[in-house]
Amino acid sequence: MIRLHDTMTREKRDFVPADPARITMYVCGPTVYGRAHIGNARPAVVFDTLARLIRHEFGADSLVYARNVTDVEDKIIVAAEKEGVDPSVITERYERFYLEDMSALGVLPPDIAPHATQEIAGMVAMIARLITLGNAYEAEGHVLFSVPSDSDYGALSRRDRDAMVAGARVEVAPYKRDPADFVLWKPSSPEVVGWSSPWGRGRPGWHIECSAMIRAHLGETIDIHGGGLDLIFPHHENEIAQSRCAHAGAPLARYWVHNGFVDMGSEKMSKSLGNIITPAELLEQGHRGETLRLALLSAHYRQPLSWTDEVVAQAKTNLDRLYRTAGDAEPGEIDAGVVEALSDDLNTPLAISRLFAIDDPAVLRASAKLLGLLFEQSGSWFKFFSGGIEAANLIEARIAERAEAKANRDFATADRIRDELKAEGIVLEDGPGGTTWRKE
Ligand SMILES: [Zn+2]
Repeated sequence: MIRLHDTMTREKRDFVPADPARITMYVCGPTVYGRAHIGNARPAVVFDTLARLIRHEFGADSLVYARNVTDVEDKIIVAAEKEGVDPSVITERYERFYLEDMSALGVLPPDIAPHATQEIAGMVAMIARLITLGNAYEAEGHVLFSVPSDSDYGALSRRDRDAMVAGARVEVAPYKRDPADFVLWKPSSPEVVGWSSPWGRGRPGWHIECSAMIRAHLGETIDIHGGGLDLIFPHHENEIAQSRCAHAGAPLARYWVHNGFVDMGSEKMSKSLGNIITPAELLEQGHRGETLRLALLSAHYRQPLSWTDEVVAQAKTNLDRLYRTAGDAEPGEIDAGVVEALSDDLNTPLAISRLFAIDDPAVLRASAKLLGLLFEQSGSWFKFFSGGIEAANLIEARIAERAEAKANRDFATADRIRDELKAEGIVLEDGPGGTTWRKE
């Protein structure tokens, strides 16, 4: 039995899907206007791991996992203006980068990746319905959700009204009836991207995007809604209000799952604070995507994770150890202890510690795969280290030189090459398939 901490009830609950043959999960995806940082990568890795666990428990075809792409947003418009290009140039570029970065981290693509710009009709229909029901109103080309019209508003974040108004960071907007009201549709000036609507040419607000796409692809009520802690308010609170009001009170999600922040120093890693580090930079520095994945999973997903050089170095050392045990074995049975740890609200630190207790290579391979780890052959893992590919090539060249010396029965040279590499911490291992190397 999988148990998940549900933000709505603030407690761990048994995960009982509405339909075990079609489990639905939606995770708020990237706004594609810049390179993803490690903090952005955390939910992608966490929910990828949860998806793997659900598929293990309920069957390979049991889960429909949707992660959206926000490809219309003011930050995108600003970035496009700055470069003097169409917004689609920005969004296509950064979506491609996002997928590349996540793939390096072993994140499998979601089953559905709806794009906001492709789903405007569904958003317009939902907004129109909210107006008809008295939950939204038109004012000066905008459509706003009327927060006082929803008596259950605030249930997820449990904020009182003053905190909500302050948290919504309301600007002076004379067309708002209530300071907590939020935008569903806003007007676009002629030079800005926009779509025609009953309220004039404009574009959707961010929150309505998720509500409309969840309805279109997964249904009115889904099993799991996920995202970072920072989305609880206002984004998820607003998604709930829109969906529940449009769907006669049906709850949007049965389980709300939120991951904690990644911290840099004493602060949350965020683009606005300028303290970000990206997977792209770390890969460039010679780290492997799998190292970053293990580092991200090394803390429990609900806890803050401090991103330091030590965390990354420890993950690398741990993977060396796991690859040494796993060798090139084919995956066998999955260790029950690893499943048990993950089933307890995705306790990845415990699951990782269980991996170290496994000495059967086939069992280790299969169990690590459940965490999205050990996805390489161990030979290719050890070929690569922080000196980068060039260093690896250099070592390969030395090994070739040594093989040639041995073929010429020049054993003195062959031994010298082995000793020189050993002095640099590189151990050669001669096997039937040739010579491999690893870091000492
Ligand atoms: Zn969302």
